[in-house]
Amino acid sequence: MAIGEFLEDNLNHPTADEIYKAVKTKLPRITKATVYKNLKVLLAEGLIKEVNVKGITRFEAKIDPHHHIICKNCTKIIDFASQELTDFALQVIRDQKNFKIQLTETIFYGICKNCES
Ligand SMILES: [Zn+2]
Ligand SMILES: [Zn+2]
Repeated sequence: MAIGEFLEDNLNHPTADEIYKAVKTKLPRITKATVYKNLKVLLAEGLIKEVNVKGITRFEAKIDPHHHIICKNCTKIIDFASQELTDFALQVIRDQKNFKIQLTETIFYGICKNCES
């Protein structure tokens, strides 16, 4: 419950460790294992999504289709929604008969404003 609430308030794609630290301030007795287990449950129920950046799994409560821009330097993730991009991707992949596509998510890599200066 606390994990879901934290993710709704934090749309900056936190890691499991960041979630654990934040939830622990509210529920001091919670263990890391409990947080990890609950993240798995929320994922299985489709209430949260995971994004992998440089081998690190991050989580988000924003489950409507959207795309990501990732900074190659600090791994900051920015969300952006584009129905056109989703539609286009589905159109491009339409001929892949051996696969039923369930989700399209496009990732763009770059350098964020903070890292550039
Ligand atoms: Zn950056
Ligand atoms: Zn996102």
